[in-house]
Amino acid sequence: MAKIIDGKMISQQIKDELKEKVERLKKQGKAGALAVIQVGEDPASSVYVRNKKNACAYIGIESLAYELPGETTEEDLLRLIEELNGKEQVRGILVQLPLPGHICEDKVIQAISPEKDVDGFHPQSVGAMTIGEPGFLSCTPAGIIQLLKRSDVEIAGKHCVIIGRSNIVGKPMALLMLRENATVTITHSKTRNLPELCRQADILIVAMGKPQFVGAEYIKEGAVVIDVGIHRDENNKLCGDVKYAEVEPIASAITPVPGGVGPMTIAMLMNNCVQSIEEG
Ligand code: NAD
Repeated sequence: MAKIIDGKMISQQIKDELKEKVERLKKQGKAGALAVIQVGEDPASSVYVRNKKNACAYIGIESLAYELPGETTEEDLLRLIEELNGKEQVRGILVQLPLPGHICEDKVIQAISPEKDVDGFHPQSVGAMTIGEPGFLSCTPAGIIQLLKRSDVEIAGKHCVIIGRSNIVGKPMALLMLRENATVTITHSKTRNLPELCRQADILIVAMGKPQFVGAEYIKEGAVVIDVGIHRDENNKLCGDVKYAEVEPIASAITPVPGGVGPMTIAMLMNNCVQSIEEG
């Protein structure tokens, strides 16, 4: 039976550590707020935004909510970001994605000052991560590194196969695993012989956005399996990219959905906010 990697418990540990750190920083006169901007009323985005505000309240930092109507222009959004860039009290700026189609996400991401880019999506943050310079790390991949480390999974020298090459998960994940001295293979929708490649993985990280796609034929006996996917199945229950019931008996450790990678993303966002307050 595989060890269940408990993201809920580990994210709670991280938030508790951050809460203590925030108290210490306040005593040194260091505080700051996270600005959370949502454009439109996408229900999934509203849940994420609410969770982020709750996490801020838990660790003791202020959150400033900007709930803008769906018809907000790109110009107005860029103006707001500019204003927040200039506010000393604001230590982090987060624009909830996806944005409505008439707003260019890249332009918005690039408008956020890299010093306040707590999502780690700005090209400067990505570049710094690539060459190992200090900067904000992309939250989901950074959360997966924490999950592995805090579950005593050895990374150095292991073969890590990643399914997915998106800018927010697959690519930064590959760079962070490389930084931890794994041997990394990145796969994607054009990859040939995907199951065969995945069966070579000591650590398999699945971020393909395809519900319950990865089954037993992708898994080497004893592999560690990290499932990044989040979907609702036909019964409206949350599920991942991995066929959990089929894969769990073969793996040595596995993340569940929900309660695996998901809670770590917010914990790492909080970590970036605290880092920003500390450096500010
Ligand atoms: P994406 O759609 O941007 O990227 C998916 C990637 O998977 C692409 O690079 C594509 O090439 C690859 N892919 C698709 N079909 C494939 C196939 N048949 N074989 C091999 N590769 C294939 O998705 P994303 O933003 O990286 O997110 C992936 C999943 O993770 C989604 O389900 C998303 O909801 C979830 N997600 C979860 C969190 C979290 O906090 N847990 C954060 C971000 C994303």
